Amino acid sequence: MGFKKELTHRERAEENLQQQRNFLESLIKSLTQPFEKEISHRKRVEEKIRQQKDFLETLIESLTHPFYVVDTNNYKIVMANSEAKKLCNSSENITCYTLTHKVNTPCDDIEEHPCPMRVMKKTKKPVTVEHIHYDPDGNARNVEVHAYPILDDEGHVIQMIEYTFDITRRKQVEEELETYRRHLEHLVEQRTIEFKKANAQLEQEIIEHRQIEGKIHTIAQRLEAVFETVGEGITLSDETGYFDIFNSKMEVITGYTKEDANNSDDFLALLYPQPSERQTAIDGIHQVRQTEKYRYVETTIRAKDGTMKTLLVSTSLVPSQNKIYFLSAYHDITARKRTEIELQKAKEAAEVANHAKSEFLANISHEFRTPLNAILGYTQILIRTKSLTKKQKEAIDTIHHSSEHLLMMINELLDLSRIEARKLELEPADVYLPGFLKGIVEIARIRAQQEGISFECEIAPDLPIGVHVDGKRLRQILINLLGNGIKFTEQGRVLFRVLNNRFSAKERNAKSLTANIRFQVEDMGIGIPSDKLEDIFLPFQQVHTGQPSTEGTGLGLPISRKLISTMGSELHVRSVVGQGTTFWFDLEVPKVEGIIVSEAQPSHHVFDLKGETRKIVIVDDKDKNRAVLKDMLVPLGFKIVEATDGHDALAKATTFHPDIILMDLIMPVMDGFETTRRIRQVPELQGVIVVGISANAFATARQESLRAGCDDFLVKPIQLNDLLEKLHVHLKLEWLDEGKHEAQTTETELKQQPIVAPPAEELVALYELTVAGDVKSILERIKEIEAVKPALAAFAAQVCQFTEAFLLDDLEKFIKQYMEVSKVPKVS
Ligand code: ADP
Repeated sequence: MGFKKELTHRERAEENLQQQRNFLESLIKSLTQPFEKEISHRKRVEEKIRQQKDFLETLIESLTHPFYVVDTNNYKIVMANSEAKKLCNSSENITCYTLTHKVNTPCDDIEEHPCPMRVMKKTKKPVTVEHIHYDPDGNARNVEVHAYPILDDEGHVIQMIEYTFDITRRKQVEEELETYRRHLEHLVEQRTIEFKKANAQLEQEIIEHRQIEGKIHTIAQRLEAVFETVGEGITLSDETGYFDIFNSKMEVITGYTKEDANNSDDFLALLYPQPSERQTAIDGIHQVRQTEKYRYVETTIRAKDGTMKTLLVSTSLVPSQNKIYFLSAYHDITARKRTEIELQKAKEAAEVANHAKSEFLANISHEFRTPLNAILGYTQILIRTKSLTKKQKEAIDTIHHSSEHLLMMINELLDLSRIEARKLELEPADVYLPGFLKGIVEIARIRAQQEGISFECEIAPDLPIGVHVDGKRLRQILINLLGNGIKFTEQGRVLFRVLNNRFSAKERNAKSLTANIRFQVEDMGIGIPSDKLEDIFLPFQQVHTGQPSTEGTGLGLPISRKLISTMGSELHVRSVVGQGTTFWFDLEVPKVEGIIVSEAQPSHHVFDLKGETRKIVIVDDKDKNRAVLKDMLVPLGFKIVEATDGHDALAKATTFHPDIILMDLIMPVMDGFETTRRIRQVPELQGVIVVGISANAFATARQESLRAGCDDFLVKPIQLNDLLEKLHVHLKLEWLDEGKHEAQTTETELKQQPIVAPPAEELVALYELTVAGDVKSILERIKEIEAVKPALAAFAAQVCQFTEAFLLDDLEKFIKQYMEVSKVPKVS
C-alpha cells in the first residue's frame, strides 16, 4: 500500500510537476514567443544575407578579372577574388599598393599617379582610370581600373571596390593600330601628294587631251577634206555593209550615193551583177577579216549607168570599239587600163620594130662586111708584097687601119643591138689570169708609150691563177677602159689596178670557190664634167669632142656597161675635171684550180702539104669575095675551084671532089644553107668538109649553119689566121714551121689576138737590133712601128714582153719565124 500510495503520490506529484511544467512551458512560451518570432525573422534575414553573401562571393569569385575591396583607411585588401589574389605572391597584409604596384608605401598622394582612391575620395563617385599594374613577376601591365566607393552613413569613403581589366594586349593592339594608323596617315599623306601630282598630271593630260581632241577634230575635218579631195573613192563600212564613209569620188565612180548604198538590200549585187564576181568580192572581204591583212586587188565593177569600170581596190581592217570596219580606197584605172592596152600594143609594135632594127643591123652589117672582106683580105695579102714602095705600104696600112676601124664600129654596133635585143650570150671559159692580164697590160703599155704618157699597173699577188669568165668580153671591156684612159690623158699616167676583194668572214665559206676581183682604171686626164657622167654611157656620146671623132665610136662605154651588167656587176665612174677619171667594177667569178698555162701560140703561115693536092671549092655569089679567098689560098699550094651559087657549087663539087668547101651562106637562087643540106644528100660528097661563111655575126647564123650540116663557121671579113686555123684542124695539115716553136700543150687554150707581123724590112731591122742586144732601141723601134699600125699591137706586145724580160734569144727566134714566113710566094 504504501507503495501504492507512494505510487499514487508520485504519480500525483509527477502530474503536478507536469502541470507546472506545462504551465511554465506555456509561460515561457508566452514570454519567448515574441523573441522567437524575432529570432526566426532574424534568422531568416541572416539566412538571406548569408545567401546573398554567398551569391556575391560566388559571383565575385566567378569574375574572370581581378576584383578586390580596399579599406580606404589602411589600404588593406579586405576582400579579393582568386584572380586578384593571383596578382600577389603573399596572402597576408596585402594592401592595394603591394598588390598592384609592388611598392611598400601608398601611392595615392603622388600627384602624377592616376590613383582612383585619391580621385574617389574627392568625388565620392565611381571612377575608371587606366593604370600600370605589375604582375607577380614584376612585368608592367596596362590595366583599366573600375573603382566604386563604399560610403559610411556620413558619406565618407570607407571602402573602395576595384575591378581591373588587363588591357596590355588591347594597348599593344592600340599601339600597333596607332602605328598602323600613323603609317596609314603617312601613306595617305604620300598618296595625297602623289594623287595631287597625278591629279596635276591628269589635269595636264586632260588639257592635252582636249587639245588632242581639238586636233583630232581638226584632223577629222581635214581627213574628210582629204577624203573628198584625194581623187580616190574612199569608203568605211562595217561588217553589215553599212557605209559610214562613202565619199563623193566614190559616188562619181559608182554613180551611187551613200544613201543608195546604205538603203540597198545588196549593194555588192549592184556593183557585181555576175554572181561569181560578187562571190570573189565577198571572199576578199572575208579574207581581210580573217587574215587582218591589207588586200590589194584589181576588180571590175558595173557603175549605175551600166559602164564597166576597172578599179584598184585596197582594203584594210580597222578595229574600233568592239566593232570591225573595212577601210577601202578605190582607184579608177579604167583609163589607165585602156592606155596600158594601147601601150602593150605599142610595145609589141616597138619590139617588132626593134627586131626589124636588129635584122636591119644584121643585114646592113652583112652588106658592110662583104666589101670589107675584100678590103681587109687584100690588105692582108698586099702587105706581104715585098716590091711595094714605102708610100704604097703606108697607103695599104691606112686602108687596113681604116677598114679595121670600120669593122670595129660594125662589131660594136652589132654588140649593142645584140645586148639590146638580149641576144648577147656570154661564153665563159677557163682563163689563165696572169697571161690574160699580161696581154692586156702589154697592149695598154704600148698605147701609152705611143701617147707619151706613163702606164703603171698594180696587180694583186693573191689573185687566183685561173678563173672562169668570158675572156673575150672582159678583154673588150678592159681594153676600152684603158684605151679611153690613155686617149683622154695628155700627160701623167694611167694606172691599171686589179685587186682581190676579200669576202667578209660571213661570206667566206659560201664563197670559197669564187673570187671577187676589182678591175680599176685610173687616169690623170681631162676628166668628165659631173653633169655628163651619165651621158657617157649613152650610145654615140662623145662629151669632149662634141662631134663624131675618128678616135672612137662613142659605143665603147655603153657596151662595156651593158656587158658588165650582163656579167652581174656594175660599172662605176668617178671623175674630177682637170684631174682625172677612175672607172671600176667588181666581178665575182668562179676560180679554176689546176689550170695549165700555155705560151702564146705562134702564128703559122705555111702548111706542109707533103706534095699532096688539097682541093677547095670557094662558093660565093660575089666575085670579090671569091677572089680574096682564092688569093689567100693559091699561094699556099691549094687547088681552087670557084662556084657562084648553090647549083654551081653542087655541080662543081660532084666533079671536082674537094677536100673542103668554103660556103657563103647568104646567096641568091639557092643559099648556102640549102646547098649544104643538099651536099649532105650526095653520096659522092660524103665526108667533104663544109665551112659556112657569113657576114652575119649573130650566133644564130652559126647555129643555123651547123644545123644545115656545116662542119664549121667563119665570119666575114675573113681573117687569114682564122682561115688557116680551120684548114689546119679540118684537113689535119701540119705546119711547115712546126717544131721550131713548140707550143706547150694546153688544157685551157688561151684565146689570143691573132698576131699580125710587121713588114719584112721592119722585121729585119728588129732582128738586127736583137742580135746586137740593143734593148732600148728595140723598144723604141717597136713603138714607132705600132704607132703607124695599131694592128700590130699583139706582135708588139710579144716583142716588148721578151725584151723587157731580156729574153733576147727567144725574141730572136720569134722574129726569125716571121721573117721566114714573109718569104712565102707572092700573090699573083
Ligand atoms: P669613145 O671613147 O669611143 O668615144 P666611149 O663610149 O668609150 O666612146 O666613151 C664615150 C665618151 O666618154 C668619150 O668620148 C669621152 O668623151 C668620155 N670618156 C670616156 N672615158 C673617159 C676618160 N677616161 N676620161 C675622160 N673622158 C672619157
